[in-house]
Order: sequence, then structure tokens, then C-alpha cells
Amino acid sequence: MADKKNLLGYSQNELEKFFLGIDEPSFRAKQLLKWVHQKGELDFDKMSNFNKDLISKMKEIAVLTPPKLKKVLVSEDGTKKYLIQLDSGSSIEMVRIPEKKRITLCISSQAGCALQCTFCATGAQGFEKNLSADEIIGQLWLANFNDKKDAPITNVVFMGMGEPLLNFEPVISSADIMRNEFAYFLSKKRITISTSGLIPQINKLADRTDVSLAISLHAADDALRDIIVPINQKYPIDNLLDACKNYLSAQKDNRHITIEYILIDGINDSLSHARSLSKILTGLACKINLIPFNPFDGCDYNRSKDKNIEVFRRHLSNKGFITTLRVTRGDDIDGACGQLVGNLKKATQGKKVIERQAIA
Ligand code: SAH
Ligand code: SF4
Repeated sequence: MADKKNLLGYSQNELEKFFLGIDEPSFRAKQLLKWVHQKGELDFDKMSNFNKDLISKMKEIAVLTPPKLKKVLVSEDGTKKYLIQLDSGSSIEMVRIPEKKRITLCISSQAGCALQCTFCATGAQGFEKNLSADEIIGQLWLANFNDKKDAPITNVVFMGMGEPLLNFEPVISSADIMRNEFAYFLSKKRITISTSGLIPQINKLADRTDVSLAISLHAADDALRDIIVPINQKYPIDNLLDACKNYLSAQKDNRHITIEYILIDGINDSLSHARSLSKILTGLACKINLIPFNPFDGCDYNRSKDKNIEVFRRHLSNKGFITTLRVTRGDDIDGACGQLVGNLKKATQGKKVIERQAIA
């Protein structure tokens, strides 16, 4: 098994190369994508348009293996949180959030994260590993096919554990599979990569994909952002917003960036913070998503008071920004991302930084 290829994470391009390499026509790639990602079939023997010879050849050199589900928690509000065990021993989480017709899956791109934002449970765990493409797309596969009663996912956000742009190629490959018409066929607007703001990677992104981009801004001035999102020391706000504009100008249609802003009591949630935010965002085609801070053990921050959230939101709306307030979902099942794995770790071994990730 160890040296067999896990085709679950192969894009159409990679599958075509794979099939040509075993003297099969490239259209097999489309057939395999359909079996796996549209019908949820992982058993080569059941792929009725593959002949016996091909099936035995496939079984010798390839597997289709999704990551293992360790636990599924269902919230009173319908949110489902999945704890997934990777072969390396690391755990990751994903969250399925149904709202009317839209069913959003929040997926992880890394186990842990090296970037240590001060409000983030995943950051507090440190970096463990980059997920492979099969471990990333495997999350969507599990959400769609593990429980046949669940309606298919309509939207995917890379807002689970990890910094997607620090795991660039597997994230792009899995986004390709999400977009592919023989696989999940999700439109570019229904896939969102969220980043803390790695400028070189944002600049590279437009050449490789057209999915939507969200920026975890959380502060409107460098002095504060340097502290709460430390990668800002390397990539300051002005340059980051320029990179966002460049990403948008590379798209042909009318697009916008989502700006995510966590509201932390007494840290970044005053009216003057809101004024600075509206000032720096003027001229950027964006929507603002305000996220009340989700508390977790070991972090001293508190969620902003409701009245402050309202003043903040109203200021932005008055300035003409489309502003949404994220309703916290799945509170009863360890709502903050990274919290479930964090609590599990504490309960098991309490390991912290296992490996350092070099940040380009
Ligand atoms: N690393 C990427 C994507 C994962 S974090 C990024 O930073 O954008 C996804 C979102 O979850 C980010 O907007 C992040 O700021 C938010 N988040 C992290 N910890 C949170 C917490 N304790 N409460 C609310 N949102 C949180
Ligand atoms: Fe990493 Fe995003 Fe958490 Fe920051 S907010 S530590 S970048 S996962």
C-alpha cells in the first residue's frame, strides 16, 4: 500500500498522465473522476466501464483511500463537526454548515499552523504537517459520501486548520478537482481560499486558479496587526491590499475579496478601529465578514460585547460596505476551529510544535 499511488487526490491532468503511463487512453481520467467524485465509488471492481485487465492493473499500482473519520459531532443547529485521523497520526477537523439551500464545508489544509495568530486555537497548536491533495479532497469526499443521507456540499471554504497558501500545490490541485466538471463541478464563486495574507503566494494564485479569495485582516493598522497576525511583520497591510487588487484585476468578471475581521473585546473592536478599517478598504471591491471571537481554553481574549459589534457593523454599513456578521455555529460542539483537535490533544498527549515550517 505504501508505494501505491492514491488516486483520490489526482486532478484530471494528473490522471491523464497516469493512464497514458499504463498504456490506457486519457479518457479513462474522466471515467475515474466520475466514479470517485460523482458516484462516491472507491472499489475498482465496481467500475463497470473498466475491463478486467485494467482493474487488475489498477489494483496492483493504485488505491483510492480517503482519510479516516474518527469522530462526528452533530450540533443542535445542524452543524456537523468531523474529526479526521491522518496516516501520520495527526488529527484535523472539518465542519459542515447547512443553511437553507447552501451547505458549506469548512476544510483544513494543514495539521496545525505555523503562523501563531494570537486568537487562533490552531495557531496555538503549532505546525504539524502539510496535507496531501488526497487528504484535502478526501474531506469533501467524506462529507458527500460517508453518510448517504447528507445532501451534497454546495460551497467549500479553506477556513479550517492551517494556512492554505503555505501548502500551495496540494491546495490548488484539490481546488481543481472541486472545479472539474467530471468531479464536483463547483463554480469558482463557491470555493473560497482564506489566507492570513502571504503576498508572494497571492500573486502566484491568479496564474493557477480563479477561486474566491478571503483575507483574514483582523486589524486596520500595522502596529496592531503585527501583534495579532504576526505574518503582518513580513507582509504589511498596504502591500497586502495591493496584492488583493492585483488578484481581482486578473479576473475577467466582477469579483470581490472577502475581508474577515474577528471582533475581540477591547483589542480591535472600537469605533475608531471601524473608522480605520473603512478608510483602508475604500477602493477595494470587497465584502466584510465580521466574526465574533470564539473563545477557547488557554486564550485570554473575549468576544466583543453585542453593543460594540453593532456600532462597528453600523459604521461599515453606513460607509457603504456590504457587511455580514457571522453567526457562530456549532457552539455546543467546540465551535472555534482547531478547538476540537486542541482539546483532544490536551486530553491525550499535549504535544506542541512537532516541526517548524519554513515560511517563504
Ligand atoms: N489560515 C487561514 C485559514 C484558516 S483560519 C486564515 O487565517 O485565513 C480561518 C478563519 O478562522 C480566519 O478568518 C481566522 O481568523 C478565523 N479564526 C481563527 N480563530 C478564530 C477564533 N478563535 N474565533 C473566530 N474565528 C477564528
Ligand atoms: Fe494559522 Fe489562520 Fe490560525 Fe492564523 S488564523 S494561526 S494563519 S490557521
